[in-house]
Parts: sequence; C-alpha cells; structure tokens
Amino acid sequence: MNKETICAEALRLGFDLCRVARAGAAPHADALESWLQNGHHATMDWMRRTAEERSDPRKLLPGVSSVVVLATNYYRAAPAEPAEDAGRIARYARGADYHDVLGARLRALAASMESSGGQQKCFVDGGPVLERDWAAACGVSWHGKSTMGIHPQLGTWFFLSVILTTLELDPDVPLPERCGRCTRCIDACPTGAIDRPYHLDARRCISYLTIENKGPIPEEFRVAMGDRIFGCDDCLDACPWNRFARESRDAQLAPSAEIPGKPLREFLRLDEAAFKALFRGSPILRAKRRGFLRNVCVALGNKGTTRDLPALEQALNDHEPLVREHAQWAIGEIRARAS
Ligand code: SF4
Ligand code: SF4
Repeated sequence: MNKETICAEALRLGFDLCRVARAGAAPHADALESWLQNGHHATMDWMRRTAEERSDPRKLLPGVSSVVVLATNYYRAAPAEPAEDAGRIARYARGADYHDVLGARLRALAASMESSGGQQKCFVDGGPVLERDWAAACGVSWHGKSTMGIHPQLGTWFFLSVILTTLELDPDVPLPERCGRCTRCIDACPTGAIDRPYHLDARRCISYLTIENKGPIPEEFRVAMGDRIFGCDDCLDACPWNRFARESRDAQLAPSAEIPGKPLREFLRLDEAAFKALFRGSPILRAKRRGFLRNVCVALGNKGTTRDLPALEQALNDHEPLVREHAQWAIGEIRARAS
C-alpha cells in the first residue's frame, strides 16, 4: 500500500486529513524534557514515566519508518452561553468518547495496511506519542501559541490520532506557522496558563484542573473557573483561525442531547451507579464522579443561587470528602452573594 491508498482509505473510514511524517526523534523532545523538569506537567506523572518513548517512536515500534497522522474534525457550533443553571463542557466532550470512535477507525486502517506487510501501532491521544509534534512535522497543523495545532481550514477543532508503521511512505512537508503577531489565546486564558507563547503551565490550566487533577481545585483558580465543569475552550474560541472551521457531520461524534443543558444541581444527586449510567461512553467518565461533582460544586459557587442551596447542603453529607469540601465552599459563595 502506498501513501495515497492509505490516505484514501483513511478518508473513507471517516478521518478528515491524512498525512505522513518520517519517523525519528520527535522534533520537540528537548522542549518536553525541560517542561517535565520544571514540573509544568503537574500531577501527570505518566508523562514523565513515558518521556523516553514520547521522545522517540522507535522505542515504541522497532523498525518504524513512518508516522501516519490523522485529523478528525469535531467542530459543532454551540450556543455561546450555557443555560442559566447549566455548566459549560468543552466541545470535544459533549458526545461520545473520541478514543472509542477513532480507535475503531484506526484499527480498521491498520488492518488494511497489514496486507502490505507493514507492522503498525495505533494511538489516539493518550499513548506515549507527541501527536502534535508529528502533526506539525507533516503539515496537518502548525504549532499555535496556545500550544494547540492549527489547520487553515479546520482551525483548532480536530482530534489527532497516529499510526506508527514500518512501511516506508513518502513524507509530507510542514505548513508555515501563521500566528504572526496575534496573542488572542494568551489574552483570553482566564488563569494565565499560557505563560508565554507556545508554553503551557498545566498546573494553571482549567482543562487539567477539571479533568486530570484528582485533588481539590486550588482556591486561587475557583472563581476563574466560572461555570466550566469539564475542560475549557477559551483559548480555542479566541483563535481567529477558527472562523474557517466548518461543522462536523460525523454522526458518531454528535453531541449528546441531554447532558450539556442539564441543571448543575441535578448532577449532585448522582450516586456512583447513576453517574456511570449517565456518562456511559462519554469522556466525562475520566474525571470520575468525585472529580466531576467537585467541578459542579465550583461552578455552583460561581453562578448558583439560593435555589441550589438544598442540593449543596445535601452534598455536605457526600461520602467523598472532596465533594463535601467543595460543596461547603460553594454554599459560602452563594450565601455571600445573596447577602
Ligand atoms: S484551556 Fe483554558 S485554562 Fe487552559 S490554557 Fe486554554 S484558556 Fe487557559
Ligand atoms: S489565537 Fe492567535 S496566537 Fe493563539 S494560536 Fe490562534 S492565531 Fe496563534
């Protein structure tokens, strides 16, 4: 199979872009090392443990020649503001878990490549691969100052996935960087997490704090979190390249009709079983019930009213100390506003 045949099959399977990079040491391996050394990965210790593999895909697949990079558009226009009593969920997390959807497509593509004798390994965001580095190397996107990849037609709203392969495929060329003098993403970040162009301090990022962070939300960031209950899109919404984004028609990645508009206080009623049932197949499961309810309490502290106090007072009896502490904080904020 040559590159053209592989990419034609990728588009048939539902990917929007397919390009190829030559495998070798990852271009930003040094930057990754210094980011880890400075502790900017926060508690994501798995990033440190897998740094060697991340820096060089030859550690993941001996004999690897090429990195096939796939992008999948997930952009859906959404109301600018959530309902009065609802929370804000990052766009990518409003429907099915993309790991499941894209993983199945990747495996189908890898299986078709096997017929050419290649060995393949598939990764959907989460494996020890610097996807954005490889996407930049082959021109799927360029590195934006927000640290997100940007494609001139998809903007920033796409999932990346990669296949490492022993097949020798013609590499594609990178795109020129086109951030220019723009700093809108940096200016839009509510917590100053993009502390300089192309550099993110995960310890300050709401996406990290509401998803990967398993402990309390530091008090200094609670007000800045606003009504965000899973992830944050502010630096993406600010990017002028997103004016070119077009609506995804991918039915498997369609947003859930129920979850995004649900009143915040209703989430506080979920026990473990109900939480798992409501979010079955959703990326929100990653935060686990305790993390998600912690986020809901913070959002209620920021936008809730006295109508939300009974649900929060009930949460003071939650079996999770994390939920109890954040419920207490929210009650204090609401009472302070009411008085
Ligand atoms: S996701 Fe939100 S908090 Fe994180 S860098 Fe972007 S704007 Fe800042
Ligand atoms: S907002 Fe501006 S600086 Fe930031 S990634 Fe987009 S184009 Fe680049």
